[in-house]
Amino acid sequence: MKALKFNGVWRVAPQETPALQCIDPDDVIVAVEVCGLCGTDVGIITGAYAVAVPGTTLGHESTGTVLKIGPAVTRFKVGDRVVINPTYSCGKCRMCLTGNPNHCERKHGTEAGVSYDGAFADQYRAKEDYLIPLDDHVSFEEGALTEPLSCTVTGVDKLNITHTNIRACVIGAGPMGMLYLWSLHLRGVTAFLVEKNAHRYQFAQDVLPEGSHIYTDFEQAMREEYGSDDEMLDLCVDTTGYLSEIVFDRLAPGGKLLNVALKAYTAQLDILKIADKSLSVIGSIDSLNNSFERAYAMIRDGEIPAARLISHSFPFHDYQQAFAMVGCNIAAQQQQPISEPNCKVLLRIASPQEAYL
Ligand SMILES: [Zn+2]
Ligand SMILES: [Zn+2]
Repeated sequence: MKALKFNGVWRVAPQETPALQCIDPDDVIVAVEVCGLCGTDVGIITGAYAVAVPGTTLGHESTGTVLKIGPAVTRFKVGDRVVINPTYSCGKCRMCLTGNPNHCERKHGTEAGVSYDGAFADQYRAKEDYLIPLDDHVSFEEGALTEPLSCTVTGVDKLNITHTNIRACVIGAGPMGMLYLWSLHLRGVTAFLVEKNAHRYQFAQDVLPEGSHIYTDFEQAMREEYGSDDEMLDLCVDTTGYLSEIVFDRLAPGGKLLNVALKAYTAQLDILKIADKSLSVIGSIDSLNNSFERAYAMIRDGEIPAARLISHSFPFHDYQQAFAMVGCNIAAQQQQPISEPNCKVLLRIASPQEAYL
């Protein structure tokens, strides 16, 4: 079978690997249909997020069809369509036992697309408990948004939103920014969006929730949304990492700043202000508290415009084109500005002839 291997920074290539077999009784081999590209993959390839083990197959946002089942599997049969939850946790370590399974201490060797062979491949070995049946009316492409949406559900949970009349913004109109915007919308909060890349802006402006506006500049957005230069904001989700200091200075008492950018960037924040204004600076990663199941339900029930957030679906062999679309030029070994309107970009693993667009 084919698998897209990470062999070191900028060294990514498809390789022929042996077909997978069930090892544990609860193993399920899934024939991967679709796998989404994620900022994490880009960070791994470029070396900006140095977490992956060389030799590992990339990819963790996927759906597929059950191909083989282990003897203890009871809830799935061969041919079932499934969504794969890639975030394994042991349930026994200190992090798992203190309510932080997304930081399981046994992640090494179990983290899909990082230290465990991921889903940019014909087959993926899952555990029965980490699969959700994909309803007939949900496409493989839509289902592949479950994992990134689950991360935003976790982040929004952490914001502990108690009022819907708050002033909120999301920085960055990539897939995470768009999913945050929609997740906040579903909790009754209308946020404005800031995106300085013209192509991401162009794509996003047609997929905004009712009442949300998009701007290229944060300060301009504050002025236009609230009428003057000294108005304050209650909540910000920064998916880029680069506006932390600017946004922090505009937080109203009780304000919350959620950072979800895996970027090597250091910000200076005023400790006195954090105390004096009861501010919260929060981080969030991965899935928690059944966010994966809740995210899937949001897609299944049409609460999130999943299909509209998918801008491109490339066949597996065009993986370089797919990564170039999100600014990761593997052939040239360099990052490049996004130069076409896009949001979620997928690789169609199983049948290139059925490409989504
Ligand atoms: Zn991801
Ligand atoms: Zn654990």
